[in-house]
Amino acid sequence: MRKAVYPGSFDPLTMGHLDIIKRAAANFDELIVAVLHNPDKSPLFSVEERVNMITEAVKDIPNVRVDAFSGFLVDYAKAHDIQVSVRGLRTVSDFEYELQTAQFNQILSQGQVETYFLASSQEYGHLSSSAVRQVAKFHGDIRGMVPDCIVSKLFEKYQYKLEE
Ligand code: ADP
Repeated sequence: MRKAVYPGSFDPLTMGHLDIIKRAAANFDELIVAVLHNPDKSPLFSVEERVNMITEAVKDIPNVRVDAFSGFLVDYAKAHDIQVSVRGLRTVSDFEYELQTAQFNQILSQGQVETYFLASSQEYGHLSSSAVRQVAKFHGDIRGMVPDCIVSKLFEKYQYKLEE
């Protein structure tokens, strides 16, 4: 069974993340979207909220599961018998960070966990969780940037709504 993990903060999940999930899920038997609990960051949504939101967003993709983890990704991967970590690449600055992280994980896992990169689709190359948070903070239109079930969560969080 070919399993992969897609780790990230997903604060919140965007259409860019969802695109990577769909494309990765088509290439593995099982894909686990793993929400990182990072004590150094103060997130907009709690890990539990993010797990619930992502679970709702991926409910129609049968081979995708959602989980949370803390600590080293490679430890999570080994504990769940996963050999592949999937990451998305948008820009050159993503590449620099992702290359370092992939090499770090390769060393830490002694070659047991490989990183597979998927290029972001053209329409989502500009999209990031931080941009979505910024737009929502100023009560902008985030429809089309995140799945519909997450649009309503952002409206609740920032206490606004938009005309149809
Ligand atoms: P991080 O895990 O670095 O905190 P995110 O949770 O935002 O970042 O993203 C998780 C992964 O998804 C990263 O590999 C990131 O490059 C990728 N990603 C983020 N936004 C997009 C997008 N719009 N299109 C494709 N990949 C993306």
